[in-house]
Amino acid sequence: AAKAAGKSRVRLHADTPDEAAGRRARLARDLPTAIEEGQLRLLFQPVIGVAERTVLGLEALVRWQHPQLGLVPPDEFIALAEADGLIVPLERWVFGEATATVAPLLAEGFDLKLGVNVSVRHLQAGCLAPDIARALAASGVPPQRLMLEITESVLMGAEDGFEGDLSTLRTLGCVISLDDFGKGHSSLARLARLPVDVLKMDRDFIGHIDGDPRTEAIVRSVVELGRTLGIDVVAEGVETPGQLALLRDLGCRFLQGYLLGRPVPPEQLRAVLDGFDTGLLDASPDLTESR
Ligand code: C2E
Ligand code: MG
Ligand code: MG
Ligand code: MG
Repeated sequence: AAKAAGKSRVRLHADTPDEAAGRRARLARDLPTAIEEGQLRLLFQPVIGVAERTVLGLEALVRWQHPQLGLVPPDEFIALAEADGLIVPLERWVFGEATATVAPLLAEGFDLKLGVNVSVRHLQAGCLAPDIARALAASGVPPQRLMLEITESVLMGAEDGFEGDLSTLRTLGCVISLDDFGKGHSSLARLARLPVDVLKMDRDFIGHIDGDPRTEAIVRSVVELGRTLGIDVVAEGVETPGQLALLRDLGCRFLQGYLLGRPVPPEQLRAVLDGFDTGLLDASPDLTESR
């Protein structure tokens, strides 16, 4: 029916398994064009320092502006790109665009780190370090400003040897972050050996922290683990004043989430950096929903 009615009937969400498979196939077919013809876009989401009371970081998050399907989220095409070997050109574009966007802000004196998500497939392809180095050189962004976010579940599952690749990236001077920490099959023993600077706690924990003593205990432990190992801990997915107050009281120093700032297009970055509402950080647990 959708076919008969033509483009006007294209829907954002597939209703049946067949439609979902069809949409996936369509996205896989169109993805090379997306990269070649400039259909990818970046949004940037702020990371807030609790003590500094300001925006300390921006995470680049990719979107696909598909000519017929509209805005496609990364969860729908990153895995396709990884399967088709397109993740390398895709992330090359992301690194170039993200560094070019943030370079003028750094030149203006904003004290920021730029976070980019990195697929382990890119690490395995063997060209991650040169691709990063090229983006840094082209934009003039200093390596210490760049944070590489690698999803922990994939990393922990991979065979040994990545420690070496991560170390190479660190010798470039970049900050290494474990993304979605706690979501996959985390090995704490492995963590002790991985050369990482930052842990990003998965947003599933943060979503359940409020009113769930067990999740609160886990988050407290991760914050303490970070302190002991000298690793910065970022909480992602902070959505409510209650979650914020609890994380602040647990000593989590870096926060990210819709409550503090949604991902925004580049043209809104200056407003986000100049206009951050520090009052958001003063959330009182007593005034918020039950704990
Ligand atoms: P991520 O790196 O864990 O990024 C955080 C995701 O959580 C983003 O989704 C962000 O929009 C969302 N988020 C942030 N704050 C909140 C909140 O308070 N509540 C909720 N419910 N969600 C929040 P997004 O942009 O859809 O990205 C999804 C994932 O796609 C990212 O997860 C990342 O793993 C991947 N991704 C995005 N860009 C790239 C890229 O350039 N390369 C690779 N390899 N992966 C990317
Ligand atoms: Mg990330
Ligand atoms: Mg991730
Ligand atoms: Mg995450």
